[in-house]
Amino acid sequence: MSFSKQVLRSFLRKNSLKPLCRKYSESTNPGICFTLSDASREYQELARKFTREEIIPRAAELDKTGAYPWEIIKKAHEIGILNLHIPTELGGLDFSTFDGCLLAEEFAYGCSGVKTAMEASTLGQTPVYIAGNPEQKKKYLGRLVEEPLVAAYCVTEPNAGSDVSAIKTKAEKKGDEYILNGQKMWITNGGVANWYFVLARTDPDPKTPASKAFTGFIVERDFPGVTPGRKEINMGQRCSDTRGITFEDVRIPKENVLVGEGAGFKIAMSTFDKTRTPVAAGAVGVAQRCLDEATKYALERKAFGVPIVKHQAVAFLLADMAIGIESSRLAYYKAAYEVDKGGRNSYFASIAKALASDVANKCATDAVQIFGGNGFNTEYPVEKLMRDAKIYQIYEGTSQIQRLIISRAIVDKAMNQ
Ligand SMILES: Cc1cc2nc3c(=O)[nH]c(=O)nc-3n(C[C@H](O)[C@H](O)[C@H](O)COP(=O)(O)OP(=O)(O)OC[C@H]3O[C@@H](n4cnc5c(N)ncnc54)[C@H](O)[C@@H]3O)c2cc1C
Repeated sequence: MSFSKQVLRSFLRKNSLKPLCRKYSESTNPGICFTLSDASREYQELARKFTREEIIPRAAELDKTGAYPWEIIKKAHEIGILNLHIPTELGGLDFSTFDGCLLAEEFAYGCSGVKTAMEASTLGQTPVYIAGNPEQKKKYLGRLVEEPLVAAYCVTEPNAGSDVSAIKTKAEKKGDEYILNGQKMWITNGGVANWYFVLARTDPDPKTPASKAFTGFIVERDFPGVTPGRKEINMGQRCSDTRGITFEDVRIPKENVLVGEGAGFKIAMSTFDKTRTPVAAGAVGVAQRCLDEATKYALERKAFGVPIVKHQAVAFLLADMAIGIESSRLAYYKAAYEVDKGGRNSYFASIAKALASDVANKCATDAVQIFGGNGFNTEYPVEKLMRDAKIYQIYEGTSQIQRLIISRAIVDKAMNQ
């Protein structure tokens, strides 16, 4: 299949976008289906080819230089696989979360830094996608379809990450505008985004509950008073652009408020129902790459006169990787299926993210172990995988926060039985 927008579009026209599994769930037969629909399989193949041809050959260099992967982003945009979830009437593909996850796994297999750069735009878009009015969607999502631009999601601050309700950035209403002041931190795509989703406090009363105290805004990069900081030098995923952003007396027209004053916290949190699962899928991609690289090496490298894979201690490391990968892949399938059915999937998304992140980190550590001394060296691929894997236990809610969400759901269910 060649990479042209026409091919993808005609393919989309000819095929249903819904995975076969969803058809099963919609039918009277409640059986479980583990087979991808033809459409989903074709998307997966397309993403695999893109990863092989466009991402893998550039990954090591991007890791070394830390340069933002614009070339890859532009190519993905040209083909039409960048803005997967934007509605078709705005020129997007209206992908299900499930299909988006399949692609995320493939991209992360090639380079999870590139995948984070692509995914962070989706994270920025999602509040607009789920809560924007038709004008906001047309203006801001439509813009991303027309040009190879990216968005970003600005919630975290220097002193508030896990505890979102502690953010201090504030917006005050003055006539038909809001005046935004504050500082965000760790914003992916912070220096390259065309516009941002920004969460700010609009009710200064500390007694007001989070569900009413915050408002979500669309803030353009070009609005006076928006200043991205320096690109942070991170442990891994180095081509992804992470920055602090300062907002100083930024005037935001009231048309850029999502839903209304006080609705921001809910929008920011429900965004994760859609975006946490693709993060889990990305972690599975990293884990799968670790397994593939380690298997190849274990078949080639000899010790004590035999390929090291013949030593059971090594072979079992591969087996444990496979156990983790297969389980976490099923976990993200389930989480994606739940949100595509409609409604919330926080419990399953947190399970998928916590599991897949831990699996990716274990797989990366074990892959380095299988490579021995070579695993510790930048000439071989696994040290990058180990550095890249760590962030999965931190961003979009740490592994501890995922466990908090899961345990709360268990307790809620038990109390309401
Ligand atoms: C590379 C990178 C990219 C990012 N991209 C974005 C982005 O695009 N947009 C954005 O808004 N944010 C982004 N973040 C921020 C990220 O989501 C936060 O770093 C993360 O949520 C953790 O917040 P924190 O760093 O403030 O850690 P803290 O909240 O200070 O947590 C520190 C430690 O305490 C633990 N902890 C905190 N509270 C609890 C609790 N109640 N129970 C148990 N343990 C707890 C945490 O798990 C963690 O181990 C990014 C971060 C990084 C590093």
